[in-house]
Amino acid sequence: MKIYSEADKNSYKNVWTLSKITGGTLHTVSYELLGAARKLAAKRGCEVWTAVLGKIDEEQIKTLFAYGADKIISVNDGKLSAFNDELECNILERLINKYRPEIVLFAAMTRGRALAPRLASKLCCGLTADCTGLDIDPDNGDLLQTRPAFGGNIMATIRSSDHRPQMATVRPKVMQMPEPDNGKSGEIINEKIIPEDTVNIKEIIKSIQRNETTVNLGDARIIIAGGRAMKGPEGFKMLEELASRIGGAVGASRAAVDNGWISYPHQIGQTGATVQTDVYIACGISGQIQHLIGMQSCKTIIAIDIDDTTPMMKLADIAVKGDVFEIIPALIKELDKTK
Ligand SMILES: Cc1cc2nc3c(=O)[nH]c(=O)nc-3n(C[C@H](O)[C@H](O)[C@H](O)COP(=O)(O)OP(=O)(O)OC[C@H]3O[C@@H](n4cnc5c(N)ncnc54)[C@H](O)[C@@H]3O)c2cc1C
Repeated sequence: MKIYSEADKNSYKNVWTLSKITGGTLHTVSYELLGAARKLAAKRGCEVWTAVLGKIDEEQIKTLFAYGADKIISVNDGKLSAFNDELECNILERLINKYRPEIVLFAAMTRGRALAPRLASKLCCGLTADCTGLDIDPDNGDLLQTRPAFGGNIMATIRSSDHRPQMATVRPKVMQMPEPDNGKSGEIINEKIIPEDTVNIKEIIKSIQRNETTVNLGDARIIIAGGRAMKGPEGFKMLEELASRIGGAVGASRAAVDNGWISYPHQIGQTGATVQTDVYIACGISGQIQHLIGMQSCKTIIAIDIDDTTPMMKLADIAVKGDVFEIIPALIKELDKTK
């Protein structure tokens, strides 16, 4: 593997993000990535570019500029209407070799998780997955990529000093959404797919959108999450009843998901979703670090547990000691009365 000299490294400039458009809509994680990229670019004295593979409209272009992109690299081709990781990887490899960005950020979602490792392997560069913090080393300009390690028990700061670009994935809701500047504009660079991009790639015959992920924990303002204490799917039905009355979404610990009481898209934590809700109600979740990583930034945390010594009860703004099977039905009854 080639070790980059200082001159090699200096030939790489600017911070890139990959903006995600699904079903014609820009995912909010694209703005969060731009916010993170802007802070890094300010420290490196460079620009923020975002790559968009697929169809993008005028409104979306304006929005990406408003959230911080200085340049948009647009590859608008019908071949990109369904996600094809091999094709997107070939295109990005070519564009990265052409424009030489110093840093590339991806969302740690299906697309980013499939693309980034493939791309890192092709470019022979490092990749840090699921970063919770990004910064620049003031001494040498390296990207400092912080993420939980060893089951979430320590935070590790990783750097890819010897290779370029430096690549990282970031989960939704981990980075703060920047304030848009609607007066800001930028430049669009239009790129095309070339025949070499499509050599030996599999052909997508049909793309099917699964419906099972109807839960959108990322956009919920209130989450009622259940743990092992819920004892089974019936316990989660009770949480759904409460959620429907207060306009919340239902989340879960991994223990509940592993037991098959609720599907994986509801899981919160290191191997599930990261959420930043106004209110998080943890029902019988002990609060192991792997769960806390996914919800500790929620504004108000309410915990219900029979044991008041658990990490979740200690973390909570409001800790209610008691049995979830008494407290939740009582709450639902009270809410129905006030209605
Ligand atoms: C690599 C790795 C990744 C992981 N990723 C995740 C992840 O993404 N998300 C995640 O959640 N976990 C994750 N875990 C698992 C994590 O370590 C815990 O095992 C899990 O979070 C425990 O779930 P729990 O709190 O529901 O269960 P428990 O720890 O068993 O807690 C159940 C709680 O319910 C309380 N209780 C019991 N009965 C009642 C009742 N009737 N009323 C009120 N309270 C009651 C108990 O006092 C207890 O506090 C991961 C683990 C590893 C090793």
